[in-house]
Amino acid sequence: MSVDEALRQLLALARATPFTAVEPVALRQADGRVLAEDLLATIDLPPWANSAMDGYALRLDDLPGQPLPVSQAVFAGQAPGPLQARTCARVFTGAPVPDGTDCVQLQENCVLDAQGRVSSLTPLRRGDNVRPQGNEIRADAPLLAAGTVLNPISLGVLASQGISQVPVLRRPRVALLSSGDELAGEGAVLGPGQIFDSNRVVLATLLERLGCDVIDLGCVPDDPLRLRTALVEAEGAELIISSAGVSVGDADCIGALLREGGEVKLWKLAIKPGKPFTFGHVGAVPLLGLPGNPGSALVTFLLTARPYLLARMGVVQVEPVRVPVVAGFAWPKAGKRQEYLRVRLDGGRARLLENQSSATLLSAVQGDGLLEVPAGETFEAGDVLDFIAFAGVGVY
Ligand code: AMP
Ligand code: MG
Repeated sequence: MSVDEALRQLLALARATPFTAVEPVALRQADGRVLAEDLLATIDLPPWANSAMDGYALRLDDLPGQPLPVSQAVFAGQAPGPLQARTCARVFTGAPVPDGTDCVQLQENCVLDAQGRVSSLTPLRRGDNVRPQGNEIRADAPLLAAGTVLNPISLGVLASQGISQVPVLRRPRVALLSSGDELAGEGAVLGPGQIFDSNRVVLATLLERLGCDVIDLGCVPDDPLRLRTALVEAEGAELIISSAGVSVGDADCIGALLREGGEVKLWKLAIKPGKPFTFGHVGAVPLLGLPGNPGSALVTFLLTARPYLLARMGVVQVEPVRVPVVAGFAWPKAGKRQEYLRVRLDGGRARLLENQSSATLLSAVQGDGLLEVPAGETFEAGDVLDFIAFAGVGVY
């Protein structure tokens, strides 16, 4: 199955089973959380017309003729009186301009005579150097839409509206396990034939960066009974993610478990690194079974599990952002599967990292992201391809 078709099906499932629980959080706790409701502006911004510069607020009609005496000075944080006829007002950046002001002349474009009266040296138009009330947004206008992933910038927008608490989606509870007789957990001593589990920490931290609460079920041997016992702890989870145990060599532990729960999608995804991918249910809880090789687990998580989760969270932009980059190498042999090459960007050109094995993470750690090569395609150095930056998918 193509990656696109798998994603289409997964996203349809996700949109049909959205997470719905909402909780209020303070702005400083809201970074990375998903806004649960549409928010409107509470106030005009700026709340009043104010000066964009240090200078003199004046009326255009008063400019021809005599220099203008300064009738008041307005600092930021003060409230001015109206602009008196045939005078100007000293104003500073961010200070409200007096009612009756047409524009502000910069102080460097003014001369003061012996009596402290102001003459303007350059022509002015209405509105110059004044930021009008409501210029940025009007009260009750749409501010941020439900499904927005809050970030430092949107938090600043909320703060500028005096909003100190926002309704966000409660953190989805995701149970995570690594499957395989050969796996040794953190801090364990390696026995014969064992390797350390690296997928769990990768997937756990990626999930946490998506705003999930991770229920860590640890490493589970290739034994249906042990798997079932481990999953008792998944109680309360809204999703289970596993790695490995979906290929034939494992006696297909995960697949066997899922088949009891009803319909199972056992896909051979046309993706490299990747391929075996399982979707089914344990009781009522959906399970995404990712492949075991660390490179494959990473890529399939980023391209399928991540968009699936974001879609259940009500996020609009769920797929990785692709940007065109120039390939710094040729790809003469077409593959049968859509391929994600781990590359580094050197002066805007993608350089292929040496080890593209699905079993390695080390080349990905030196990379800036993935170059997407469609199935059946070749390319020359200098051709433009889609690139997915790691930083855009939570790996920064
Ligand atoms: P499997 O999908 O179970 O056939 O595993 C494929 C490959 O990935 C095997 O070489 C496993 O040893 C390796 N592998 C599986 N799970 C992990 C893990 N959690 N961390 C590191 N390597 C793994
Ligand atoms: Mg295995």
